[in-house]
Amino acid sequence: MAEVMETRLTSEQAMELENKHGAHNYHPLPVVLDRGEGVFVWDLEGKKYYDFLSAYSAVNQGHGHPRIVGAMTAQAQKLALTSRAFYNSVLGKYEKYVTEYFGFEKVLPMNSGAEAVETAIKVCRKWGYEKKGVEADKAKILVASENFHGRTTTIISFSTDPDSRGGFGPYTPGFEIIPYNDTAALATALEDPNVVGFMVEPIQGEAGVNTPDDSYIPEVAKLCRAKNVLFIADEIQTGIARTGALLAVCGNCTCEAACERQATYTRPDILILGKAISGGCYPVSAVLADDEIMMVIKPGEHGSTFGGNPIAGEVAMAALEVVKDEKLAQNARKLGNIFRAEMEKLSNDSDLVTLVRGRGLLNAVVINDTPESSTAWDICVALKDNGLLAKPTHGNIIRFAPPLVMTEEQLMECVAIIRKTILEFKK
Ligand SMILES: *Cc1c(COP(=O)(O)O)cnc(C)c1O
Repeated sequence: MAEVMETRLTSEQAMELENKHGAHNYHPLPVVLDRGEGVFVWDLEGKKYYDFLSAYSAVNQGHGHPRIVGAMTAQAQKLALTSRAFYNSVLGKYEKYVTEYFGFEKVLPMNSGAEAVETAIKVCRKWGYEKKGVEADKAKILVASENFHGRTTTIISFSTDPDSRGGFGPYTPGFEIIPYNDTAALATALEDPNVVGFMVEPIQGEAGVNTPDDSYIPEVAKLCRAKNVLFIADEIQTGIARTGALLAVCGNCTCEAACERQATYTRPDILILGKAISGGCYPVSAVLADDEIMMVIKPGEHGSTFGGNPIAGEVAMAALEVVKDEKLAQNARKLGNIFRAEMEKLSNDSDLVTLVRGRGLLNAVVINDTPESSTAWDICVALKDNGLLAKPTHGNIIRFAPPLVMTEEQLMECVAIIRKTILEFKK
């Protein structure tokens, strides 16, 4: 048994082990990563790649950021976990820091994104009963078609993706799916007085970087407010500078705060964060809201053994400091504009690329083939062979989301790899 822990593996062997002993709930690209630094990762044979997925936008600050790793290891050696049965010397500092950073009165700390979404759902329902006066067990939360909010039983209950949902019933009731980027549909659904919340991604990452009209999110907030319904923004993937602003709800503002000073900022009633709030070093997620909403949760009504642990607090503070100090939102905005312009050029030069969309460094290209075809997958394998890692999402779409610490020179090298791969690609 100890033998396997000692063995130095080849990529072939590592993949075999995963296939043999792990559940097959993922279909990874055939590459085995062993090391990472900044925008780069290396496989077991020492081949170097540009990471153009960033662990689904968790690694915005780059792999192995010394400030984040330093904060993590120092705290791990001091105190890792107390549970919330006791106070710990980091949590309060972190809570003050993160609430001021994002401009909310309270935070509820969790670990994974799905847990934070579950938390937001519970907070919203409780608020609906206690503050809005909805009759017991009648609260309804609206969600958008093609949403991705995680993998728990409740969350997949309102997924429109057959792979995510099919075969896992019975499903949690209390949700209604409305079309994305459709304020008329929202206005109609909001006529139901039992509606307590609308949970939505400002850009749908998993669905293929579905980017709504600029007016959509501000209009959503306005419509919800008029009906006393909570606007819940799932910024687990879009948040923390990914889209060229601290939050996607900040619109086109690149200042270093999420704040109402900015004309383009649309404040959600509940903000859900995960992924890059830790720079990908550690599972950290958070639900932010003001007292009026968050204080409906009383001791004993919600919790998590690991939520709010001291390592998570130190890691998240370091990761958020890096975002500010290294001006990652500004960099994502600048490089994103260059990247989309280059991809537009490519789509003019190649029949394979039909559409380029996104904001900041959350972008996707749509490949000219059916969603059932293997073309996008085969292109990603070719990109890997050429030293760049990206993954298809929803069939014929390739998402491009490098760490935000990338330089313009590195980006242009990546553009050259993508260009060469697509132009040389033969089905
Ligand atoms: C990744 C993601 C989640 C789920 O986060 P996990 O940490 O995988 O549970 C939820 N919502 C969005 C928008 C995401 O991108």
